[in-house]
Amino acid sequence: MNYATQMEAARRGILTEEMNAVAAKEKIPAAQLVSLMAEGKVIIPCNKRHKSLEPNGLGSMLKTKINVNLGTSRDMTDLEMEYEKVHRAVEMGAEAIMDLSSFGDTRKFRRYLTENCPAIIGTVPIYDAVVYYHKPLKQITAREWIDIVRMHAEDGVDFMTIHCGINRETAHKFKKNKRLTNIVSRGGSIIFAWMEMTGEENPFYEFFDEILEICREYDVTLSLGDACRPGCLADATDASQIEELITLGELTERAWKKAVQVMVEGPGHMPLNQIAANMEIQKTLCHGAPFYVLGPIVTDVAPGYDHITAAIGGAAAAAAGASFLCYVTPAEHLRLPDVEDVKEGIIAARIAAHAADIAKGVPDAMEWDNSMSVARKKLDWKEMFRLAMDPEKAERYRETSMPEKEDTCSMCGNFCAVKNMNRILDGEIVSIFEE
Ligand code: SF4
Repeated sequence: MNYATQMEAARRGILTEEMNAVAAKEKIPAAQLVSLMAEGKVIIPCNKRHKSLEPNGLGSMLKTKINVNLGTSRDMTDLEMEYEKVHRAVEMGAEAIMDLSSFGDTRKFRRYLTENCPAIIGTVPIYDAVVYYHKPLKQITAREWIDIVRMHAEDGVDFMTIHCGINRETAHKFKKNKRLTNIVSRGGSIIFAWMEMTGEENPFYEFFDEILEICREYDVTLSLGDACRPGCLADATDASQIEELITLGELTERAWKKAVQVMVEGPGHMPLNQIAANMEIQKTLCHGAPFYVLGPIVTDVAPGYDHITAAIGGAAAAAAGASFLCYVTPAEHLRLPDVEDVKEGIIAARIAAHAADIAKGVPDAMEWDNSMSVARKKLDWKEMFRLAMDPEKAERYRETSMPEKEDTCSMCGNFCAVKNMNRILDGEIVSIFEE
């Protein structure tokens, strides 16, 4: 192999196996994909050691992808349940899975994923460091943080969230500009606390070049973490968020110099009217690197329904240029999601992604909807179920309330506009009450 990363291959004009697979899947010319990848506008996260991966591309012109967060926590250690969530997520079309485990034997689950899972696998080494070293936060050394990045790369992880944007300068800005909800990023809060307690610079920022070397070696994509993402609507687009984004833009360019693939993480909680502007700001400051948004959640008052608040924001963000949506489940802000929550979250994120793809004019996105409309017009229920984003739910709903006239549904029965229009246009008599 005469290239270190997919980006380096693209710059040399080499069409890799992964690029070929992505171009075919996305129905775009391979040459166009190569040129977008050379510029950093499209990435294919694919660690050389993740042999079970079915590659997917993220970025400009491509179908919007979704990520599913999984993993154990101190209060929920059931690995079997996490395995089931993995299977569900893959079955339901999630292109990526992030393992956010923060308790127990995290390496076992991580290696299971990179050995068996066809989805893109992401991790956040900062969480794992705390579990792995099992000692007070203050005592973890700068070297030890970086060693965990290497360990995850060796384990075959395709992308890693690295909280390198919150350096001492950003932390200073954050302390000067009061927020309603401070820092809500788990990794961001950990590294901020570490910097405050040790008085040292963020090691992910200070030793960024060393991280780049690790990423080059394994072709790990950097997901530049947004420690200062707003955690409530009131904090959206504030000084800390923008200051960090400026740093992330600089780090993006440094990564590209070493041909390391990059995406940038984004908000968070954000009023609907600020989303499109934020996508523009990110595109400008981060030079067109793919944007990975965590929501955005568009209202803070709907715990239990945050898959919906995030899907509204996710659709708006992706329509305005975001490439990758992190799913949010109804359990957000409340508990670790169970299998049913995972399913609801995936469907909501897929709806948001697909709605955005139609708005963006992604090749073939609209065809799916047109096929559904044809089936609806024909009252072809079997076909409607086949095409449904969640066929099981669609079929279950219909079966729980069958109409007297089987071709209609119990919503309107004989008043079925579709049936009556089909009949009248076919020259038949329409007589609603006498049938
Ligand atoms: S009965 Fe009403 S809701 Fe049901 S298919 Fe016909 S028009 Fe649509």
